[in-house]
Amino acid sequence: MNVRFPVSKPVLAGREKEYVVDALDSGWISSNGAYIGRFESAVAARLDTDWSLAVCNGTVALHVACLALDLRPGQSVIVPTLTYVATANAVSYCGAKVVLADVSPQDGGLTADSVRAAWRSDTVGVIAVHLYGFPAPVDEITDLCRERGAWLIEDCAESLGASLKGRPTGSFGDAATFSFYGNKTISTGEGGLVTLRDPTLRQRATMLRGQGMDPARRYWHPMIGYNYRMTNVAAAIGLGQVECADYHLSERRRIAARYARVLAPLEADGLAAMPREMPDSRGSFWLSCLVLGRGGPAVRDAVMDRLLSQHGIETRPYFVPMHRLPMYAVDASFPVATRLAEHGMNLPSYSGLSDADIDWIGEQVVAAVRDEAQCLA
Ligand SMILES: *Cc1c(COP(=O)(O)O)cnc(C)c1O
Repeated sequence: MNVRFPVSKPVLAGREKEYVVDALDSGWISSNGAYIGRFESAVAARLDTDWSLAVCNGTVALHVACLALDLRPGQSVIVPTLTYVATANAVSYCGAKVVLADVSPQDGGLTADSVRAAWRSDTVGVIAVHLYGFPAPVDEITDLCRERGAWLIEDCAESLGASLKGRPTGSFGDAATFSFYGNKTISTGEGGLVTLRDPTLRQRATMLRGQGMDPARRYWHPMIGYNYRMTNVAAAIGLGQVECADYHLSERRRIAARYARVLAPLEADGLAAMPREMPDSRGSFWLSCLVLGRGGPAVRDAVMDRLLSQHGIETRPYFVPMHRLPMYAVDASFPVATRLAEHGMNLPSYSGLSDADIDWIGEQVVAAVRDEAQCLA
């Protein structure tokens, strides 16, 4: 069956087209042009900072943050095993070692305890991920990192708009990174952004983005840099998107709350649960999440197959944890991450999905989960 309800799709409901046409008319289609700075300022304003650096995707945002913090071979960085692969790859790009840690059953992110347990003598930093937009306890992780002289990067690719204790995610660590890929809450097609606390590191990150060139001396490159720039056309889309960020965020919140209502009978029977916000935290609800209560990956996959083939409802499994990938496999077990990864799925969650459609999708999910659970019994 064709996909009737995709998991995600970009909704360009603001001034994106007007800004893109303006960018084209201006002749500035590559990485100079006014929209880059306007987009950077508009995102920074949401993050309680006055500086941000737009780059060409969320993966290189992580790479730039690691390089700006001077990550080198012979050092190690703690990363949650349950994340998108980019988080770990950025560490590998620097020749450093990825050290995996287990996650919390509530928000799917690192905890201060899991970070403590993973710590090694060569650990210089931690990358915390706000998985599916649920804030990890980065207040406690920041304290731990400060105590031990290490840095913290917050991977906020999924958490634009989320906050912890009234502060936006991304405002706790030494650096934060964002992604504006097509399925993220706001998108530039491909795009990313870095924030950094330290002014010296900000300058270094700006040089790294632009081939290592000295801003005061053309074609003088005192370091090996990269071409990680965002185009003005992408930034024009991004400005239109970020102006509508509150709309997109309230849509994601409405959608998750509505699913929670329809899926409540599954929760009552212990067949599935939707992760919830912890006290003092506000999620971005990037994608609505459902974690099945029993059965393992075969049951989860059967539910997903059935929703697609019978009803055209697309879903996504949770990320495959890093310890299951060949390059990050280790001889250790990560029971919480493994359980979430094997039982978790994301439901259609795009702005504009109607209440009636959510109710209908939810009913099909309830029926599919009940049927598959019956097969187990
Ligand atoms: C999307 C995502 C990224 C990477 O973003 P790209 O823009 O696709 O390179 C990094 N980390 C997490 C957790 C993500 O979800």
